[in-house]
Amino acid sequence: MNAPVSGMTKATTYLALPKGMLINGRFVDARSGKTIDVVNPATGAIISKVPAGDKADVDMAVIAARAAFDKGVWRRKKYSERADILWRWTDLILANIDEMAHIETLDNGMPLASAMNAIRVGVSTIRYYAGMCSKIYGHTSEISGGGQEYHAYSVCEPVGVAALITPWNGPFATACTKSGSALAAGCSAILKPAEQSPLTALRMAEFALEAGIPEGVFNVVTGYGEAAGAALASHPDVDKISFTGSTAVGKTLVRAAADNMKRLSLELGGKSPVFLFNDADMSEAIPAAAMGIFRNSGQVCFAGSRLYVQNDVYDNVVSELAQFAEKVRLGSGLDSQTQLGPLISEQQRSRVMNYVDSGKSDGATLVVGGSVIDGPGYFMKPTIFAKTGPAMKIVKDEIFGPVLVVERFGSIEDVAGIANATPYGLGAGVYTTDVSKAHRVAKEIRAGNIWVNCYGFTDKTLPFGGYKQSGWGREGGYEGIDAFLEKKAVYVRL
Ligand code: NAP
Repeated sequence: MNAPVSGMTKATTYLALPKGMLINGRFVDARSGKTIDVVNPATGAIISKVPAGDKADVDMAVIAARAAFDKGVWRRKKYSERADILWRWTDLILANIDEMAHIETLDNGMPLASAMNAIRVGVSTIRYYAGMCSKIYGHTSEISGGGQEYHAYSVCEPVGVAALITPWNGPFATACTKSGSALAAGCSAILKPAEQSPLTALRMAEFALEAGIPEGVFNVVTGYGEAAGAALASHPDVDKISFTGSTAVGKTLVRAAADNMKRLSLELGGKSPVFLFNDADMSEAIPAAAMGIFRNSGQVCFAGSRLYVQNDVYDNVVSELAQFAEKVRLGSGLDSQTQLGPLISEQQRSRVMNYVDSGKSDGATLVVGGSVIDGPGYFMKPTIFAKTGPAMKIVKDEIFGPVLVVERFGSIEDVAGIANATPYGLGAGVYTTDVSKAHRVAKEIRAGNIWVNCYGFTDKTLPFGGYKQSGWGREGGYEGIDAFLEKKAVYVRL
């Protein structure tokens, strides 16, 4: 009997194959013939090439998606058929989970265990929304009809052609959240993954076809944001954009969407505060607060990048955080000992290192880290700054790297002022053993997600999103599918 082929072997075989974009049920090159090199951030080596799609390719994808929507090949299917096909899609992905996880690690750099978890989470999200195909309800209403009698009701209908634009930091899981909810709602979708990490999106597109998602209903266009992304954002026949990425690009989408009043969901950046009270269980709180920023090398939208420690335990906490940071194991995501992989690119690492320089020149104290690792790949050491001030760039800006600022706070009365002094409002954490204090803090902070005695856990059954400039709308829960639905009221005079 032949030995089973390993996930790594399958992934490298996949990477070596020519890659096309999925448009109208076929994998095609960019019309320009141009490609983008895909780089393994742990080595700097080119591991694959994908088409550099641009406006011409977006136009083809939108025509296909619109035709599929108008013909009703998906939205008019019985809900049970849509659910079955989505479930079949996830079965195919799961049957190839080792390969998918290796592709994600090679493409994005995250540790393999995190990639395995991301594939499972992505699959379970699509399954959650497959189950929701049967739970899209309108309602009937008793109305005052000015002397007439009416039967009146509301219905939910899919919004139309949806562009799903994703970032590089959690490529597969984000693609699943958006695709699962858009397709369950009955939309046609065009997924535009980030140029740095497009590979699991293309592989899942192969499984989508195999599962029986009709041609034109699910399309994947790879390409640069300013070409393919911008063309989707301004396209008059795209009805909805679901975007995850930076606040700066989110704002350009708001402008681009204005012409045809596209529906917009925006999952944007953050600078999330974490409060560590002196009554916290330090043995749990300190490592959790450290991984709240360092996980995925700080490339997490809700990373707990501002840590506030109550005065009397501050020095001790800073010293224990530093010890933790020094022991974190950096390396290739393929090494089972690795806790932190590389940053996504040299460009991102230089951006983060510029923040480290600005912290130093602004007078913050560099406690640990603050340097790159010489050699191949885009590694940098987990970094902690103390004695920072609220006006410093490292305290105000989203760095999107493994950089933590640790400041002091006095009492619970200070929390709201500190936490809310930012244009962002994505996440916040609190560590305390006092349950009343925890609830009071949770109430005061203007953010979409609050974690008490834990950090960064999310579940698809709950709405995820941001207050203020961290976004518009929510993913997850019923809110996630609702974002892809229009509501219609029907009045029937009896
Ligand atoms: P980004 O630069 O905003 O890019 C996100 C996506 O938008 C990519 O696919 C990008 O394509 C595309 N894009 C870029 N310019 C565009 C334009 N003018 N029109 C349309 N699309 C465009 O963000 P990123 O650097 O990939 O990701 C990091 C950011 O994402 C951070 O700010 C992070 O907080 C945020 N994020 C938020 C969440 C959340 O749920 N709130 C989750 C994850 C990440 P290219 O890759 O080709 O540039």
